[in-house]
Amino acid sequence: MAKIQAIRGMNDILPEQTPVWQYVESTIRRVLGQYGYQEIRMPVVESTDLFKRSIGEVTDIVEKEMYTFEDRNGDSLTLRPEGTAGCVRAAEEHGLLFNQTRRLWYTGPMFRHERPQKGRYRQFHQIGVECFGMAGPDIDAELLILTARLWSALGLDGHTRLEINSIGTSEARKVYRQALVEYLDQYRDQLDEDSKRRLTSNPLRILDSKNPDTRKLLEGAPSLDDYLDEASRAHFEQLKALLDAAGVTYSVNPALVRGLDYYGKTVFEWITDSLGAQGTVCAGGRYDGLVEQLGGKPTDAVGFALGLERLILLLETLGLVPVNVNNDADVYVTAMGDKAIAASMAISEELRNGLPGKVVVAHCGGGSFKSQMKKADRSGARYAVILGENELASGNVGLKPLRDDQPQLEVARAELVQVLTDRL
Ligand code: ATP
Ligand code: MG
Repeated sequence: MAKIQAIRGMNDILPEQTPVWQYVESTIRRVLGQYGYQEIRMPVVESTDLFKRSIGEVTDIVEKEMYTFEDRNGDSLTLRPEGTAGCVRAAEEHGLLFNQTRRLWYTGPMFRHERPQKGRYRQFHQIGVECFGMAGPDIDAELLILTARLWSALGLDGHTRLEINSIGTSEARKVYRQALVEYLDQYRDQLDEDSKRRLTSNPLRILDSKNPDTRKLLEGAPSLDDYLDEASRAHFEQLKALLDAAGVTYSVNPALVRGLDYYGKTVFEWITDSLGAQGTVCAGGRYDGLVEQLGGKPTDAVGFALGLERLILLLETLGLVPVNVNNDADVYVTAMGDKAIAASMAISEELRNGLPGKVVVAHCGGGSFKSQMKKADRSGARYAVILGENELASGNVGLKPLRDDQPQLEVARAELVQVLTDRL
């Protein structure tokens, strides 16, 4: 019978790969904890309207990337393509934003029907961070300082660069939008199909075009910068000053607009040049209007999302996964014969009590001494404990170093924890 396979673009993360995921996740968790951010967990499925109303009808995500389906009772539901909308929904629903500031984070799978390629999948994972109730550029700066610390913690200093921009208020963008359309309209024939379509639907997205001819046309286009409102300009100047003071290096990219409708004022991306086209590992910005747009009180907000697959790909590409990030056992306990098996289970428990930070794998499933030793070797363990009839009779166990050319030792069972503590 034909085997059923995983859905294209939705990847299994296999046991060989999970240690690096755990390493990255725990590093991020630790850094976020250092800054006082609290974890929130939202469902993977939300009402389709939530995403339409927040991300915007005329965006890549809503137009063509969402996994939308009808529930059995006829409601339109969507697998979340991102976390901000759900986080705002949850925070509002539970009154988390009432007269208080919040620093939240979450992690989990996101779903977008895109063309799968390196660094772009249909189920991928983000760590998202959202801050509420803080209007000033100080919190924008904190988010960027925090991400810079994260890159450092992962050994990525010098491998990511920060681009920032201000896209102003929606009023400022409206005026700019008109100027941009007027300019591009003169060259309508030279625009690619996507850009032509966006000219009427979402012209700012054209600034993001990867098409070289369109890019060339954009060189002469009016700049959003010239249309910024005073408040946004001041906010941006202060943010830059805070980043300068903190020693976070950045460049201003006037073409950075981001693909979701809810952003305003600050937007930013952390980019790497080591992953080719899918080089944005972390992206975000301010979205002061979103909470109100979703029915809450006006609440200032800023956040970002970090793509875990891309970050892990980057660490692997650069050879920056620490050597101790693995599934390896420390001790492998073998047993020959029924009595020895019972004893080996008890000894393994004693070792787990005495060596709580170590991985003790007890051999299960029988087999010859030779095959057990082969498995011990493959487990990555540094020591094999050898337990047979002779050892049982003597009250000792054999202790065989597996990673260096040392002779096997005889160790009294009562001393085994101590001997291993000294050696591991
Ligand atoms: P891109 O321009 O690469 O499509 P985006 O602007 O759609 O990215 P966001 O919605 O801002 O991305 O998501 C934040 C981060 O999530 C991205 O910077 C990226 O690291 C990651 N990401 C987004 N889409 C995917 C995907 N399909 N597969 C893997 N990672 C993704
Ligand atoms: Mg995208």
